Amino acid sequence: MKLEHASWMEVKKYLNKPRGILLPIGSTEQHGPIGLIGTDTICSSIIADGVSEKTRMYIAPKISYTPAKFNMKFAGTVSISIEVFKGLICEVIQSLLKHGFKFVYILNGHGANIEPVKEIIEELNNCNIFIKSWWDFPEVNILRKKFFGEWEGMHATPSEISITQINHRKIINKNLNDCAKLPPKKLSAKFIKDHSGDKHGHPDEHFRLFPDGRVGSHSALANPEYGKLILTSAIRAVTKDIKLIEKSIQ
Ligand SMILES: [Zn+2]
Repeated sequence: MKLEHASWMEVKKYLNKPRGILLPIGSTEQHGPIGLIGTDTICSSIIADGVSEKTRMYIAPKISYTPAKFNMKFAGTVSISIEVFKGLICEVIQSLLKHGFKFVYILNGHGANIEPVKEIIEELNNCNIFIKSWWDFPEVNILRKKFFGEWEGMHATPSEISITQINHRKIINKNLNDCAKLPPKKLSAKFIKDHSGDKHGHPDEHFRLFPDGRVGSHSALANPEYGKLILTSAIRAVTKDIKLIEKSIQ
């Protein structure tokens, strides 16, 4: 059910009924010594795939280039400005709505995307655009807490890395694994509150404070078995959320 694997006539037929579309968004940024650069996009995409299977909804091509300026001191990170990101999201949403998709459900995997997307939704003044991050749902958070407790942290979290390990590369390299074996610096409650939504400072400062890229997250606790349980729970929670939306628009 990927939009890019459908023909326009199939999409037209789908739109005979009031149907929505999923739009996974993530990032292209460092995720610590053993986390993949594409972690955020992999997580939102794999959850969207599962939701699409259950709801028979189309998935729009994922958006991986997003704002991640604070990580620009780390090799491999690609960051676009908030203005460009907002413009991109806005035009993608408008295109989809123009064709008659009844709603757009943005499934997010990267903290810094939340505020700009919410601003766009407000500017478009359309109540059929939704954004949810996969960690927004209580049932998902119960698992994150149960498996990793405080070591879940804020960036390069063991839960997101666990999800990537289900069917993507698990980094096995002695030096990198040794580096990730040590617990990261513990964060204060104030730091977590002040920096939620990836409100991190200048890239130099961020690199100085968190030189291996982990922000309070003990990535080495990641495990694909936990990943499968978190994934199943996220798919179930998002599907439930979408069923409610579908009910309300019929
Ligand atoms: Zn991430």
